[in-house]
Amino acid sequence: MAEGKIVKALSGFYYVLSEGTVTQCRGRGNFRKNKITPLVGDHVEFQADNVTDGYILKVFERKNELVRPPIANVDQAILVFSASEPDFSTTLLDRFLVLIESKEIDPLICITKMDLLTEEEMGRIHRYADDYRRMGYEVLTTSSKTEQGVKELAPYLRDKISVFAGQSGVGKSSLLNALDPELDLKTAMISSHLGRGKHTTRHVELIHVDGGLVADTPGFSSLDFTELDESDLPLCFPEMVTASEACKFRGCLHVNEPKCAVKEKVEAGDIPAYRYDHYLSFHQEIKERKPRY
Ligand code: GDP
Ligand code: ZN
Repeated sequence: MAEGKIVKALSGFYYVLSEGTVTQCRGRGNFRKNKITPLVGDHVEFQADNVTDGYILKVFERKNELVRPPIANVDQAILVFSASEPDFSTTLLDRFLVLIESKEIDPLICITKMDLLTEEEMGRIHRYADDYRRMGYEVLTTSSKTEQGVKELAPYLRDKISVFAGQSGVGKSSLLNALDPELDLKTAMISSHLGRGKHTTRHVELIHVDGGLVADTPGFSSLDFTELDESDLPLCFPEMVTASEACKFRGCLHVNEPKCAVKEKVEAGDIPAYRYDHYLSFHQEIKERKPRY
């Protein structure tokens, strides 16, 4: 018996990586009774006489699970935003961050295409980067063209399952190719525009990059807050979680409540106003959401 990670699922076979070897397995075992379908990213127990003839016996409990692409146990989301083309948007960044936080996945913010900026524009992006660092996020500024920041990104991948997330055209594939030029062919798939339309079923696969595993399909393709409640939202803003210890009311939503420490921090400039504005608009969006039945 051995343990490993599913790196690919295709036509009823699961490809399990264990100690550097991939074994083709079928499902058989107790997990079938519980109607668990093994997912890419699952940590499993398996038995095999040779590399083409294995059986999965057990699926270990998942830390989290994404639906699109279907993948379990994601450690990290590398959130790719371009500094330009398309323009950097904190509204969209905050939306992605909320979704990532709600899945309890660690985000890493990568601002790409820094080579396209003038000095002045660069100053503005660096100020945003510092804002997000103060909120507790890791931020890298990169360029796949000049390879700025690419070496710094590599160690973040090691020993983790990562998904790249971000709009189409921000430079996700380019960044992966800059990390490992030999990936060229495979990562063509990561472009979400290739994934739409023609291929209706996406087969996600984990590929080796810098000592880690990276999904070849971008994560968080749906950007609405259907799975979130009003009270979940403040928990997805780490700087508000810290500040809220000083709010007068437990369970303060930082909207209309008096003696709200979050609002005080916004007024004092410790939490950026744009960040709080996004919080309020997401809050409103969740409140106005129509029930699904
Ligand atoms: P994806 O859809 O997020 O995977 O984006 P791509 O990696 O396909 O990049 C979209 C476009 O942006 C391509 O034309 C790339 O050549 C360009 N691009 C990506 N990264 C950079 C960068 O760091 N600098 C510049 N100047 N262009 C970039
Ligand atoms: Zn409050």
